[in-house]
Amino acid sequence: MALVTGGTRGIGAASAEALKQQGYRVAVTYKSNEQSAKEFSERTGIPAFQFDVSNLEHCAQEVKKIAEACGPIEVLVNNAGITRDAMLHRMTAAHWHDVLQTNLTSCFNMCWSVLPAMRERGFGRIINIGSINGQTGQLGQTSYAAAKAGMHGFTLALAREGAARGITVNMIAPGYIETDMVRAVAPEVLAQIRSRIPVGRLGRAEEIGRAVVFLASDEASFITGSTLTINGGQHMF
Ligand code: NDP
Repeated sequence: MALVTGGTRGIGAASAEALKQQGYRVAVTYKSNEQSAKEFSERTGIPAFQFDVSNLEHCAQEVKKIAEACGPIEVLVNNAGITRDAMLHRMTAAHWHDVLQTNLTSCFNMCWSVLPAMRERGFGRIINIGSINGQTGQLGQTSYAAAKAGMHGFTLALAREGAARGITVNMIAPGYIETDMVRAVAPEVLAQIRSRIPVGRLGRAEEIGRAVVFLASDEASFITGSTLTINGGQHMF
């Protein structure tokens, strides 16, 4: 089965639905937005589990519960993420900590919780959702960019550790995708961002979902330690 963190909205929700369409049994997690979780589960039939991915103890407990309820976790999508934007000289230590814990430490927490069973079965797919802003940096996002760039190093190291056990670990680095996170950006800033995207539009969550399905599939079994950049040409390297 496939587990998608932060899967009740945005990119996570689209990824969970795409995986379900491919025949996976799927479960998602969320933090506190009950309304979105309820709507998502009613619409898709995918169960949603509430816990904070920044808390190791909760992750370990809930992963055990999810595996008991839905079956062994073969695919983990580390998607849950937040922004708390501010220029560094105005950023609070609490916001720095929240962003690092939710975007990066969560990857440790979730992988630590699922890896022993994946190693035992000799199969696993871990897909981390990074960001263009972890590749380029962004004003007001020292915390977010550090977390997403950290996720890149985490992906490479864990890919090496998992390779001999049939576990692939890859990252997707989306550009700007139309979700609640991006809808919170001021319209004039968003217009500027759009003007810098060669394809002339924001991405759609479904476009990331399809890449998640690919990286989870047997066709991607020789791909590990990779970053798939999906940004409409905004950042090429
Ligand atoms: P959304 O804000 O639309 O959704 C975030 C999801 O993560 C929600 O389900 C939310 O739960 C969950 N979540 C947040 N914090 C926690 C937590 N501590 N524990 C458990 N769940 C949590 O995000 P997007 O779909 O826009 O982004 C998804 C991922 O993609 C993030 O990692 C983001 O950094 C990355 N990304 C997004 C881009 C974009 O343009 N949108 C661009 C590049 C990367 P709840 O509903 O309860 O709050």
